[in-house]
Amino acid sequence: MSDKTLTCKDCSVQFIFSEGEQNFYKEKGFMNEPQRCLSCRTAKKQQRRGRNNFSKPNAFGNRMEFRFGSK
Ligand SMILES: [Zn+2]
Repeated sequence: MSDKTLTCKDCSVQFIFSEGEQNFYKEKGFMNEPQRCLSCRTAKKQQRRGRNNFSKPNAFGNRMEFRFGSK
């Protein structure tokens, strides 16, 4: 197995799906390769966290971004 280059579904940037990550996915039983680059995945994670924390002052901004992003 070796590193793979994938294209991000969200920002069309090319990113590396490393051997280590591929092993991690296999261990977890994921059948699909990641669809997004690391920065998009991190952003999604933060948006998810933002939606769960309505009391946080920046939760509103995150929700707006999420709406624009899913259009
Ligand atoms: Zn991306």
